[in-house]
Amino acid sequence: MSKKILLDKINVPGIKTYEVYRKEGGYASVEKAIKAMTPDEVVEEVKKSGLRGRGGAGFPAGMKWSFIDKKSGKPRHLVCNADESEPGTFKDRYLMEFIPHLLIEGMITSSFALGANLSYIYIRGEYMWVFKILERAIAEAKAAGWLGKNILGSGYDLELHVHCGAGAYICGEETALIESLEGKRGNPRIKPPFPAVSGLWANPTVVNNVETIASVPWIINNSGDDYAKIGIGRSTGTKLISASGHVKNPGVYEIELGLSVDEFMNSDEYLGGMSSNRPLKALVPGGSSVPILPANLIFKTANGEDRLMTYESLSDGGFATGSMLGSGGFIVYDDTACVVRNTWNFARFYHHESCGQCTPCREGTGWLEKVLWRIENGQGREEDIDLLWSIQSKIEGNTICPLGDAASWPVAAAIRHFREEFEYHVRFPERIKNRNHFVAEP
Ligand code: NAD
Ligand code: SF4
Repeated sequence: MSKKILLDKINVPGIKTYEVYRKEGGYASVEKAIKAMTPDEVVEEVKKSGLRGRGGAGFPAGMKWSFIDKKSGKPRHLVCNADESEPGTFKDRYLMEFIPHLLIEGMITSSFALGANLSYIYIRGEYMWVFKILERAIAEAKAAGWLGKNILGSGYDLELHVHCGAGAYICGEETALIESLEGKRGNPRIKPPFPAVSGLWANPTVVNNVETIASVPWIINNSGDDYAKIGIGRSTGTKLISASGHVKNPGVYEIELGLSVDEFMNSDEYLGGMSSNRPLKALVPGGSSVPILPANLIFKTANGEDRLMTYESLSDGGFATGSMLGSGGFIVYDDTACVVRNTWNFARFYHHESCGQCTPCREGTGWLEKVLWRIENGQGREEDIDLLWSIQSKIEGNTICPLGDAASWPVAAAIRHFREEFEYHVRFPERIKNRNHFVAEP
């Protein structure tokens, strides 16, 4: 049984409310941090924990916190990125919906560490009911004296607001989120400067994912060293995984990092194997942005090592960098799934969500969608597969923000591992047309 530190209380009746959450030991980390620690000591514990960003990039959280300039005299901010929109990812919603005070507690402890007096939770527009849950939790925390002026008589003040987006995936990119919070169109900024130097209203700002911030109370209540003992190597702690697709038990799971993919997929404690009793065909291990793995690379790496649920182990070998654990969106496909159709579906999404600022992304995502559409609909040409490869290679690395890479990687990986399926679509268009899933032309 994996250790649980985020979801251990999720089944306690009434844990959504302040009273029950507090009775179960909630807000202890705020008390400990404010009464017994300095802000720098809190940062030090998070550094020691090895906690890495749970939104997708896996950047060390304590290191990000230590980049904040505390000497400039400018106000500082903590912004929680709750704009969870990566296809296949729904774990932050689960946390916020069922144990909202864990996030509020993490926001207060983390804001104290950063010396932030004004912090925000930016939540995606489609999560309106969760927005209301958070608003209520913030009001309860404020009424109980955990927010506002002079918290616990310490002289530390904190205002916390929850802000609702308007339904744009790109506002999950941290600088687009900041633009949106400032009341502007959510266009990503060029980095550097990173938000830690110049973020919200040009003030030093840390942007962290919901799950990252929700992990902070446990670290402070126990210790950074204790957290670092959970997990494996540089993948410390636990991770929430949103599992979907052709498995018996889809849902949100908290796993200890380092669990084998085989155990996660096949044991009854987790996904319980394939729902269909059909063969496993492919896996997208970390949300739509990360490369798809074919069946022969799911349980073992290309080197024959066991594939583990870690930041390091889930790459398909095609790219040297990037965290392939991504946002933890674990999508399983059996042999009835069409990789071309799936790739087209992802491409359509990225084209729709591109903000349009840079040419390779704005134009390239459109071309990826169009060419994939014609292959999927039996109108593909032999040369289209190389054309797709060429388009994706011209997007990757040539854009302002990672949406460009996110659009190109799934296409590259699908061609790399399933080229024969693309060729089949081109060579046998009549068989493809008869599958009765014709899709509207872009
Ligand atoms: P990134 O690697 O550019 O940055 C990671 C974090 O580290 C950022 O907060 C950045 O400001 C900080 N950072 C990096 N270098 C720094 C430096 N030198 N100084 C100060 N700060 C520094 O990645 P990103 O754009 O934050 O995230 C991309 C990831 O987001 C992708 O891997 C994708 O999986 C994920 N994603 C998740 C969702 C979701 O719904 N959870 C949606 C879209 C994308
Ligand atoms: Fe906008 Fe795409 Fe450029 Fe990102 S990569 S800034 S989404 S056009």
